[in-house]
Amino acid sequence: MEKTFDVIVIGSGPGGYVAAIKCAQLGLKVCCVEKEKVLGGTCLNVGCIPSKTLLHASEFYFKMQHEAPLMGISADPKMDFSTLQQRKEGVVKGFNAGIGSLFKKNNVTSIQGSASFIDPHTVQVGDISLKAKHFILATGSKPVALPFLPFDETAALSSTGALALKTPPKEMVVVGCGVIGVELGSVYSRLGTKVTFVEAADRICPGLDIALSSELQKLLTAQGMRFHLSAKVVSAKVEEGRAEILLDTKNLLVSEKVLVCIGRKAYTQGLNLEKLGIPTTRSGQIAVNGNFQIPEQPHILAIGDLIDGPMLAHKASDEGVAAAKILAGKSGRVEYLTIPSVVYTYPEAASVGLSEEAAKEMGFSIKTAKVPFKANSRARASFEEMGFVKLIAQEGTLRLLGCHIIGAHAGELIHEVALALHKRGTAHDLENTSHAHPTLAEAIKEGAHALISRSLHL
Ligand SMILES: Cc1cc2nc3c(=O)[nH]c(=O)nc-3n(C[C@H](O)[C@H](O)[C@H](O)COP(=O)(O)OP(=O)(O)OC[C@H]3O[C@@H](n4cnc5c(N)ncnc54)[C@H](O)[C@@H]3O)c2cc1C
Repeated sequence: MEKTFDVIVIGSGPGGYVAAIKCAQLGLKVCCVEKEKVLGGTCLNVGCIPSKTLLHASEFYFKMQHEAPLMGISADPKMDFSTLQQRKEGVVKGFNAGIGSLFKKNNVTSIQGSASFIDPHTVQVGDISLKAKHFILATGSKPVALPFLPFDETAALSSTGALALKTPPKEMVVVGCGVIGVELGSVYSRLGTKVTFVEAADRICPGLDIALSSELQKLLTAQGMRFHLSAKVVSAKVEEGRAEILLDTKNLLVSEKVLVCIGRKAYTQGLNLEKLGIPTTRSGQIAVNGNFQIPEQPHILAIGDLIDGPMLAHKASDEGVAAAKILAGKSGRVEYLTIPSVVYTYPEAASVGLSEEAAKEMGFSIKTAKVPFKANSRARASFEEMGFVKLIAQEGTLRLLGCHIIGAHAGELIHEVALALHKRGTAHDLENTSHAHPTLAEAIKEGAHALISRSLHL
């Protein structure tokens, strides 16, 4: 059987499914091919959504134990982990079906199977040949294992295995203190697991502004998590169901589980890109131009984790929308500098724009302001006093360059400044925007006061 489309999208993660819907909404005849039986990709099935479901519940459990008594609420919470896992699966299934419904509603043809190019305009999916003028590759990424410790998903876990455990283990070593590592380590630490982190860099979440990463490490340490920084794993093995991890600092860690979160690699297996002369970079990604086109085959676009940039679901979706617009003859672009990133720990850490180090490296003269949530009335009233807002602006003009928030709901608060950055805003724009009282967002306005002259409440 042969079918023909304007656009074939390969992969139904947040890049692919959003690109397919947008293409259809712009009048293109589109098909989305997904090799798994469920739609939604890494983000929905083994990434953002299941991890946030476990993070939310474990945070709730932690707060009931440690914070509720301080507000006069007595509680003796019990964790039924299998109920929590069932809830997680229910949330995921609901959205799997939701994407299917959105495809129907928008006239996106959905085909299940692995797509492989047989010529530049044809992919084979099982016994069906699909032809198109254009393709959008959105095949995502997979976790990277340590070279000497393959994932067995029993003692040596990838993030996928860690999300599917039947019970919280007694101990867990987490190799890699990036976002995924600290989030999943936090889940199990709050559920009673003794969690020890190993990180080659000298700080956790090295992508964050240094003020945020050191505050986050301090707060996670206070919650009982332990860190070996500037430490590399030199060997690791699983023996009699226990993991043994040797560090170059000579420490030997023995643990029921080791979770390896040292990064993810772009996934192109099975696409048969060699046939089309499309090379991959050393990190396995595909190089594209400013319009997401692959130079060797400009009718094929690539987006999401498959190409350069932060491996984030919303970055993939933004690129999906931009790619669809380009194929529909409109202009489509992504403003990478204003893509926020959030670490969903307790408290959350969120960033947008330049870190202080990056701004200085780029030669900006900067002015910074730091407002602790301790000085914010809503934070005090709500038992959410941890952390701070840090604003970075260009000296003189006070044009905003970055914002870094650690504290409750940081992942929601950051978007005000993301919009301000997108609009090339200044501290005056934040100061002149009325902020409801009492809200955590007032800490951002307070930061703007501090950048302009001096803060009112500090
Ligand atoms: C534990 C974890 C937590 C995360 N949390 C967050 C978060 O909170 N926020 C955030 O922004 N990001 C988060 N991420 C990252 C996010 O999941 C990814 O950045 C995002 O899923 C990338 O989207 P994508 O569309 O590029 O690819 P993917 O979501 O990886 O989707 C690719 C799809 O392509 C399919 N595919 C591959 N090859 C073929 C083929 N030949 N034929 C057909 N189909 C194929 C795959 O089966 C897959 O479904 C997290 C990731 C992990 C692992």
